[in-house]
Amino acid sequence: MAFPRKSLTIFLVVAFVLLTAVGLWMLDGVFAADGFGNAEAGGNIFVPFLGVSMVLLAVVVAWAVWPLLRTAGAPPHIGSDEPGTIFPPPVDFSAGEIPDFSHVEFPVSEYALETYKAAVDHAPAAIMITNNRGRIEYVNEAFLKTSGYSRSEILGRSPAMFGAGHTRSEVYADLWQTILSGSVWRGEVCNRRKSGEEYWENMAISPLRDRFGRVSHFVAVREDITERKGREDDLRQLAQVDALTGIANRRHLIERAEQERRRAERFGQPLALLMVDIDYFKTINDEHGHAVGDQAIRMVAQTCAGSVREIDIVGRYGGEEFVIVLPGTLPEGARELADRLRQQIAAIEIAGADGTPIGVTVSIGFAAFEPGDELEQLLAAADAALYRAKSLGRNCVVAVTDCLRKEPPGDVQ
Ligand code: GH3
Ligand code: MG
Ligand code: MG
Repeated sequence: MAFPRKSLTIFLVVAFVLLTAVGLWMLDGVFAADGFGNAEAGGNIFVPFLGVSMVLLAVVVAWAVWPLLRTAGAPPHIGSDEPGTIFPPPVDFSAGEIPDFSHVEFPVSEYALETYKAAVDHAPAAIMITNNRGRIEYVNEAFLKTSGYSRSEILGRSPAMFGAGHTRSEVYADLWQTILSGSVWRGEVCNRRKSGEEYWENMAISPLRDRFGRVSHFVAVREDITERKGREDDLRQLAQVDALTGIANRRHLIERAEQERRRAERFGQPLALLMVDIDYFKTINDEHGHAVGDQAIRMVAQTCAGSVREIDIVGRYGGEEFVIVLPGTLPEGARELADRLRQQIAAIEIAGADGTPIGVTVSIGFAAFEPGDELEQLLAAADAALYRAKSLGRNCVVAVTDCLRKEPPGDVQ
């Protein structure tokens, strides 16, 4: 248990005051007794009384002031477990024993403040403090390292100087609303280093309040997550791409096609969809093997992807079947593209199993979006047109007609 220095000091002070008061009162009585201020016998009795209280006073003062004299100015005695030191003694963890420091007092001294500052200065996370007028007042070493700026280039400026311009304004609106309401905001933002390189940071911003409870500063703790983001992007990419051809896989194709269908519906824009299927593919597989079959699939995929605009979407819909979504394209434009594509593919030869070149052809059916169409209807319409192209002898392009749209594929000849 800690020694009750405070209580004892109070007790001694009270005792001193009482003894002195009683002594003075009695002396006063003696002086008053003979009328000349001569203490005589009465004085002889009570002067020692006062002497004792004076000694008591000296003890009290020494007792109270001694610890202050010991700690003031002098560097704290690191390694001691006496009250008044900043740190507990160094712990030898290898000894397997962790001492109990619960009795040690830790006053916040200049030394402690220096320690806190050193901890923030050299923390592994980047730390920035801005005042409530949005000006940067402090950045730590990790922040300088991540951003590439020097301290003098940063202090006094706005944190906006680091923005890469990709973060949506709603994100910033949410940020300000959160921190001004006194809560912690967490999120990911894309920033730019002094070198111009963009990097992703995970940020936590919390408001700091002054002694009157007003928000005076904001402290941002930022962690560079560019690497993690890169890995996430790679994984997302892997989940969206067809491994054999490098174009969109069926799931991603349908997602993107649905987005475009909704856009066409909402803004009344045209939209065309092509379905491309390799002719007699089974024969290629059977006669030349799967490796040549795969090569044929890759060649058709690459030709399709290379013949469209950046906004068009090309995906592998099935084994040797591809879908091309053409936003903002009228039926005439879709037919033109489909026929050009068909001719391009027919002109390419790939090496057969014995090295001799073999030709590959495709049949293409296409459909134009009509208001109210669901994606399934659009796909079914293009499939019906493809079926017709196959039945017309293959290596040709067929547009869906109103008649085709309404009839099930099996009935169309
Ligand atoms: P059609 O002219 O009517 O389109 O006939 P087809 O032979 O092209 O079409 P069918 O649907 O009869 O055969 C498609 C074949 O594609 C069947 C399947 O084994 C093969 N296949 C599907 N995926 C792959 C693949 O990734 N690689 C290879 N080599 N073959 C595949
Ligand atoms: Mg086929
Ligand atoms: Mg097929």
